[in-house]
Amino acid sequence: MTTSPRILGDVPRHWVGDGFFVKTMFSYSDLGHDLSPFLLFDYAAPREFPPRDVPAGVGEHPHRGFETVTIAYQGSVAHRDSSGSSGVIHPGDVQWMTAGSGVVHEEFHEREFAKRGGVVEMVQLWVNLPARDKKTAPRYQTLRATTIPTVALAAGVEARVIAGELGGARGPAQTFTPVDLWDLSFARDATATLPRAAGHTAAVFVRHGALRIADGVTVGAGELALLPHDVQRITLTADADTKALFLGGEPIREPIAGYGPFVMNTKAEIAAAFDDYEHGRMGRLPG
Ligand code: MN
Repeated sequence: MTTSPRILGDVPRHWVGDGFFVKTMFSYSDLGHDLSPFLLFDYAAPREFPPRDVPAGVGEHPHRGFETVTIAYQGSVAHRDSSGSSGVIHPGDVQWMTAGSGVVHEEFHEREFAKRGGVVEMVQLWVNLPARDKKTAPRYQTLRATTIPTVALAAGVEARVIAGELGGARGPAQTFTPVDLWDLSFARDATATLPRAAGHTAAVFVRHGALRIADGVTVGAGELALLPHDVQRITLTADADTKALFLGGEPIREPIAGYGPFVMNTKAEIAAAFDDYEHGRMGRLPG
């Protein structure tokens, strides 16, 4: 007898800037320990944006103490930051940004994409850093779609390995603590069993379709299942053609103190982060 998976998904949508209409599936303020090392999960379900000359998005804002992982499924996102870095994430690409000691950036629909208009579908995941790495130097990993290996897991089931190891492939993302991030694609009625690392957090988010994850438990589109720790093997069966994202990782067992875009270990460190941002010590966007 095992405990049941916890299904999350009955949450309101909200705008991030004017470019991303998201459901926050979970955040550190309520489930930071249950989902550690993950702090926050925003899903922008497919949404059509009409053509426009001024790209939609979210303007200058800071981050400190964790990593943001942006997966573009449809549409292209351009970013620009205080270190002078900039780039575009195209469909299938993943941007793994280590905010570390502090980044000030903006995230907009890419200009040419915005001019044409089109569908945007994105995930942004926040991954915590252990206390020893919260002040690490900022870093970007742009993981192009062509560098992310795809493996066949079973008949009709494929996985794109973004981080961690699966089916003999290793994802290109470099992480500070063990993290698994796998894009899963199922044909209708296909079944696959995923490994469960002992003691690790494990969750499955369904973008499209539906997955049966236990007797009588189905995860529908726009829902996330948090798997109990006593589930050793995760057997997933698709009720329809299905796209899902598996999140796994070793929990970081440290205090979480967060406010908005800063996630540290103590309230004093949050106050210091606001002070550093307001005084320009995280830098500014180039004009
Ligand atoms: Mn951001």
